[in-house]
Amino acid sequence: MTPSQALQKYFGYSAFRHQQEAIINNILDKRDVLTLMPTGGGKSLCYQLPAVLLDGLTLVISPLIALMKDQVDALNVNGIPAAFLNSSQSPNEQTEIGIKLKNNHIKLLYLAPERLFGKDARLMDFLKKLPVSLIAIDEAHCISHWGHDFRPEYLALSGLKEEFPKVPVIALTATADKLTKKDILEKLNLKNPEVFVSSFNRENITYKVAAKRNSFNQLLAFLEGHKDDSGIVYCLSRKSTEKLAEDLKTAGYRAEAYHAGLDYTVKARTQEAFLRDEVRIIVATIAFGMGINKSNVRYVVHMDLPKNIEGYYQETGRAGRDGLPSDALLLFAPGDGMKLKQFAMVEDNPEQSRIMLKKLDDMVKYCQLHSCRRQYLLNYFDEAFPPNCGACDVCLTEFKTFDATLIAQKALSAVARLRERFGSAYIIDFLRGSKSEKIWQEHKQLKTYGIGNDISKPEWQRYLSELMRQGYLEATNDMYPVLKLTTKSEAVLKGMQKVELPEIEKVEEQQRHQVLPFEAPLLNDLRSLRSNIAHHENVPPYIILSDLGLQEMATYLPLSLDELRLISGFGDVKLARYGREFLEPVKTYASKNGLASRMQQKSSKRERKTNGERSSVPRSSDTARESFTMYRSGKSVAEIAESRGLAAATIEGHLSFYIYKGEMEVTELVTPDKIQPIKDAVESYGAEKLSPLKEVLGNDFSYGEIKAVVAWVRKNGEL
Ligand code: ADP
Ligand code: ZN
Repeated sequence: MTPSQALQKYFGYSAFRHQQEAIINNILDKRDVLTLMPTGGGKSLCYQLPAVLLDGLTLVISPLIALMKDQVDALNVNGIPAAFLNSSQSPNEQTEIGIKLKNNHIKLLYLAPERLFGKDARLMDFLKKLPVSLIAIDEAHCISHWGHDFRPEYLALSGLKEEFPKVPVIALTATADKLTKKDILEKLNLKNPEVFVSSFNRENITYKVAAKRNSFNQLLAFLEGHKDDSGIVYCLSRKSTEKLAEDLKTAGYRAEAYHAGLDYTVKARTQEAFLRDEVRIIVATIAFGMGINKSNVRYVVHMDLPKNIEGYYQETGRAGRDGLPSDALLLFAPGDGMKLKQFAMVEDNPEQSRIMLKKLDDMVKYCQLHSCRRQYLLNYFDEAFPPNCGACDVCLTEFKTFDATLIAQKALSAVARLRERFGSAYIIDFLRGSKSEKIWQEHKQLKTYGIGNDISKPEWQRYLSELMRQGYLEATNDMYPVLKLTTKSEAVLKGMQKVELPEIEKVEEQQRHQVLPFEAPLLNDLRSLRSNIAHHENVPPYIILSDLGLQEMATYLPLSLDELRLISGFGDVKLARYGREFLEPVKTYASKNGLASRMQQKSSKRERKTNGERSSVPRSSDTARESFTMYRSGKSVAEIAESRGLAAATIEGHLSFYIYKGEMEVTELVTPDKIQPIKDAVESYGAEKLSPLKEVLGNDFSYGEIKAVVAWVRKNGEL
């Protein structure tokens, strides 16, 4: 059987992801391998599939009991005999597993390192007599002091090669930094290992950062769009996790808190309930997550600023392991950065403190970006990425400006009337005609009092900071900054200078989350069927079938076992065990509603190939590709904008991506006489933010033209 055939037969997938195939071939050739792949990338398959193909036993070293159980359940459901040995089992259970091992009835055995190299050498002696054909070391970064999760018991694994000199070893980790990688290779004594580094891009995750205002209400608004989804909400302190979990329960959500201070049994119960979809939201400190394999986590929210990008990326990476669109939302208040500074200082260790502060600073920068967040994240991990991912809030936000002269006049005259003696909060309250006692009685008599009550507080905040940025106002450098007029203010007040402010408009969400038009009632039926089966089999629902599998069924309506085989996740065993049961509701639904199978619309079950590896060109988002295809078919930007209901600047942004990729000439979007001035501006001001460029270039240049030239300059490596 070839690896591809085994992939379909045992796992029900029709295409390999990342470098899975190459990795597997190396193992089958008996070579040592180190695999670096992001969380959710599909590492387990890299040793599980060879384990099935090779004669004999595969040993899997894994640090966490919870993780072992999950994996073993998933393998067994797919008809692959697997087991684990750990301290939670009774002697009887262990003896039983021993017998099965002797009889060659087990393909994969999961073990913690301390089991293998513990005081009791009997297990090692026993295993050495078995036909071991492969050893996999999961979470291999645990062997390194440089990793974020050093486990001393992993150090014993350096003895593996002596104990099993002929057996190939595959080490796997989602930690990519160079030091850790070097450490793993050295400590494990791998022989001429082949190293595979996958792209760390998680293309199904949309990254968003929002200014933190009323965080609980912001969270509720976000959850509106995720009513039936599972998610993790991270908070900084234990106390706040408990408070927030309570508040969410009051608001009708099935939420539980999780932090290191809780009782072991409480934690285990909460985790189990989350895996089984009984609890939907885990409100946790960063203590939660390692070893959580749950594939259908649809979102990760950070209520507070993470301490560094590494942690943030790992935490957000827990969303969307099944490859379906997922969200990462971070609520950012600049004050949070200041707060964390104290924690970043390591006592008596200025060098370490410096590193931690730098990491924190990089995290704050991420929150304040005006350029693609994904690009920033991947660059942070030394991976190149084009400037427009189409799936972060910056790329999904389109900046249009509008004539805001009147608004500016109101703001500036308020500042003038208040004699340039107040800060922005007071000015906004004054503009909005607040009845608060805080507003001086004499100010309430002024003509300007209340002239801005048609504009909300947050909007005023945005406008004021934009007016400052454009130099129409300035803030003093005090503890409580006071707003002052500038030399540019007068012209505005006299009506001699127009002011443009950016209008921020979110591009329709659906653009990114182009979820297939599935039959919602059927999906519900399928979900409860899955829960029943899972309950009966005593495993978490996602182990029976992924959310993706359910969604495909509710979309394409497979009506026979042959059709069901084309749905993601149905290998031979799953098909035989649960196929008929899953077909039942689909058939009933289809006949009740007079629907036929739509399987022919599903070209193949080949999953959308995950973003290529480092060397290859990254994929554009679907929405950008659509604009590009229309453009190539001869439509103008204006026509595409019209027919897609998007702004022209958005379309130009999409096309810029193709300029970056070299599939389009910059001159197709920008007339030659405009290219040089834009290039000059980019050289002087950088391309971090577009709005300052727009400002210096003036109204003759559109955002789209600027984006296009920036993409072109980047492509030429001049930036
Ligand atoms: P990692 O250990 O790298 O975090 P997993 O091994 O848990 O990731 O894989 C994540 C999910 O992707 C699992 O649900 C797994 O079954 C699925 N998966 C792995 N490889 C493929 C593939 N080639 N096609 C479809 N799904 C896959
Ligand atoms: Zn982006």
